[in-house]
Amino acid sequence: MATVKEGFLCPICVQDLGSFHKLQNHFETKHTAEDKAIFDQVKGLFSKAKVRWLKKDGVNENDIGSSSSSNHILHDAPVWDPQEIGQMHNHMEKFKKIRDDRIDRFVIESNKVLIRLDKLAHCDEFEATKRKEFEQTLVPWVRDNDVPYCPTCGDRFNVTRRRHHCRLCGSIMCTKCSLFISFQFADELVQTLRKPPAGRRRTQSDLNISQSSTSKPQDTSELYIRCCHDCYIVLMKRKERLDQKENQPLLVLLYEKLRSATDAANELSPLYEKMAESLNRGEESYHLDKANDYRFKLIKLYETIDVVSKKISVLDTEDQDHPPSATLLRMQNAIRSASHAYLQNNMLTLQSLPSLPKLEMLQKNRRQEEERRMRRQREELERERMEEERRREVERLRSEAENSRVSQAPPALQKSRSGVILKEGWGAESNPFQPQGNPFESESDPLLEQIAYVRQMIVQAKQANRTEEVQSLNRNLSELESEFQRQRSVRAFA
Ligand SMILES: [Zn+2]
Ligand SMILES: [Zn+2]
Ligand SMILES: [Zn+2]
Repeated sequence: MATVKEGFLCPICVQDLGSFHKLQNHFETKHTAEDKAIFDQVKGLFSKAKVRWLKKDGVNENDIGSSSSSNHILHDAPVWDPQEIGQMHNHMEKFKKIRDDRIDRFVIESNKVLIRLDKLAHCDEFEATKRKEFEQTLVPWVRDNDVPYCPTCGDRFNVTRRRHHCRLCGSIMCTKCSLFISFQFADELVQTLRKPPAGRRRTQSDLNISQSSTSKPQDTSELYIRCCHDCYIVLMKRKERLDQKENQPLLVLLYEKLRSATDAANELSPLYEKMAESLNRGEESYHLDKANDYRFKLIKLYETIDVVSKKISVLDTEDQDHPPSATLLRMQNAIRSASHAYLQNNMLTLQSLPSLPKLEMLQKNRRQEEERRMRRQREELERERMEEERRREVERLRSEAENSRVSQAPPALQKSRSGVILKEGWGAESNPFQPQGNPFESESDPLLEQIAYVRQMIVQAKQANRTEEVQSLNRNLSELESEFQRQRSVRAFA
């Protein structure tokens, strides 16, 4: 026996822990900070050894309940950097990934166990030999000769310490390592597997009838299903999940309420803001009643967020026996802080609505303003239209005059004249003795005569180098020219 028990000795403190589970537990609690490599090595060794024992009988790896508990996949924990209050970050994907990696394998194993449990619990055969045959069709049993010692406690099997098989995975254990699942409990665990129309839930009376109508079980222990430690853990986890589904913790319920209120407020708030803005501008696209209704609903939602988040922050803090853990309390407070920040950003900035008389005044003002604007616009358009008409008329007169002049003038002169007009207009360099062609000017225009005279004087002053006189004459000339331009345009629009 000593040779076998070596396997359960702690390689670090050389303490005999008696079973694999105890050794594993001892390691995880006592030597967590110590050599991780040794720990993993030991864990791997045991699961491999167990696989090898069972594989001899054609049991494949997935049928071994312990593999889920001994093959932990290590993940980096999410990094929780300090963050601003009220920040939102979705960790769902990360959590899902970590969880999926862990539960995939577990789900496959636990489903296999549950399907077998379902068949066992609903098998009406109680005659020992036949039932045993049926049990072995569900899962192959490990051969007795292959297992001289109980894999769980390490004790040697003999005439008094007999081998027993787990009905769910087929592995071997001794009497004291056997665990039992009652039919009733089994039924509870598997009822969700069965679709309601396919199978009626077994009741105690069903069980009584089947017992009396077929061969009676030899002892009452047969009304229980024997299973190993690993399979038992799988079933308890199943039970835990079912319980969780039925009665969610209060914190979860409150948080769901908080989330749904926040979601509803987030949906309603932009609609309301649009309405309030429009009404405050005196527009008539929305009804004041409707906006007031939205405002009331929003305030109710904000109240709910306030009350529920407050409740979450103090949840279980009065409970002397089961106070929330430090982490949980920190989360509860974080939820409250986030809600508080949310309310400050949303409730306190909620736009107010005008009263009915105020709204009527706003709408009246807006209508008047709108009318004024329309009138101004109409006037502007009218002005533009008239301007355009006048411009066209001038253009027309101009080209008419040009045409008549062209037809009178000799061809050679016509070209040079029109070139001068188009390119330079009235300039100081133009010939002072030859007034430029224009449909509106006459040869006897006194302004033109004056201009011609001033130009002549400028030429003379330049020749005599009288600079100051030239400057003063130039000023006179430009005044005369602009006056001439003004008169010409007045005549053009007359
Ligand atoms: Zn130790
Ligand atoms: Zn088992
Ligand atoms: Zn045992």
